[in-house]
Amino acid sequence: MKNKKQKIIIGLVGLSACGKGTVAQYFKKKYNANTHKFSIILRDILNRLYYKIDRTSLQTLSTILRTNFGEDVLAKVIARDVKNDKNKIIVVDGIRRMDDIKYLKKLDHFLLFKIIVKPKIRYKRLVQRNENLGDTKKTYKEFLDDEKKEADLKIPLVMQKAKYAIDNNGSFKELHKQISHNVERITHNVMRSTLCVPRYMIFGPQGSGKGTQAKVLSAKLNIPHISTGSIFREQIKKQTALGKKIKNIVRQGKLISDIITNKVLKKRLSAKDCRAGFILDGYPRNLTQAKFLDKLINTTLALEIWISDEEAVKRISQRRICVKCEKIYHLKFNPPKTDGICDLCNSKLSVRKDDEKDAVKKRLRAYHSQTALLINYYKKRKVYKKINGMLSIKEVSKKIYKMIE
Ligand SMILES: [Zn+2]
Repeated sequence: MKNKKQKIIIGLVGLSACGKGTVAQYFKKKYNANTHKFSIILRDILNRLYYKIDRTSLQTLSTILRTNFGEDVLAKVIARDVKNDKNKIIVVDGIRRMDDIKYLKKLDHFLLFKIIVKPKIRYKRLVQRNENLGDTKKTYKEFLDDEKKEADLKIPLVMQKAKYAIDNNGSFKELHKQISHNVERITHNVMRSTLCVPRYMIFGPQGSGKGTQAKVLSAKLNIPHISTGSIFREQIKKQTALGKKIKNIVRQGKLISDIITNKVLKKRLSAKDCRAGFILDGYPRNLTQAKFLDKLINTTLALEIWISDEEAVKRISQRRICVKCEKIYHLKFNPPKTDGICDLCNSKLSVRKDDEKDAVKKRLRAYHSQTALLINYYKKRKVYKKINGMLSIKEVSKKIYKMIE
């Protein structure tokens, strides 16, 4: 689906040599973030003029630009660059003034981080780094005086506005540990809920081909296809405690409760392979499950594969199952090599009790009553889409690809 590309913008503010660049690099490496830096604009211009780059020239140019083109001229440039940036995580380094965050704040998920380091440590790092001309010869007093100049004067004020703090008084290792413990947690939560991760669910009546489409899509997007039905079957096969419980419920002809289903699903979604997205098939089945799912993740697409009831009955009536190995065939879409005989074990094929006309009709009625509620629910969340499932598997797949592009 054509989702608005949402992103996380991390602003870094701190006094000189506090390690903003190091933090930015960490985000770059760890999250594939893109970085934007206020001073790059000034450096670009000075470079083009073949002018030496030092603190004075940078500040002079900044003043010239701001007095002639508006206090927020650089802020506008950066905000525009960030807005055009297609990356999901963007770091803006070198925020100094309240104007600098004026436009960034209006963009999606702007998080301001302040970096705190004692002056003595910053001074030592500045001399060692020697980024600008004359840094090595600077005395501690000169270094402190620099911070009283216009360019740095407002930094403490902006730092007060920062919601998040990073203490960078220690080693790299300590810094990284801190970021991964705190910063990562914060951004991860934002990412989990907002970024365009494909968290799809496919629903449709039996015979709609939703399982097939889910499989195709899962392979194409390289994300897991999660069917609560197959998880249950697997548990039964493995004879786990849960499997035994489920087997009993099914044997009694009862439905597996929402509590069990939700628990199983929650566990499956917490697995590592779901981080980049997933496709749910056969879940949620009702409003209770949908609401439960909403507490875990934000669904980005609820896709209904629609077919008429007549078509559903027709398709299911052509289903055959091997009486011995339970392999499923379809007379039209997946016929056995020999009529009425299983390819695998040469046993006879028959119609499942569940697939008899009356049973199918009964199931369809139940499906419609539950689904109507789900459709409304996801329509309100603006993630509902409907696709015509009466076409061939290939054509339906094509339509789905187009939708999610
Ligand atoms: Zn068989």
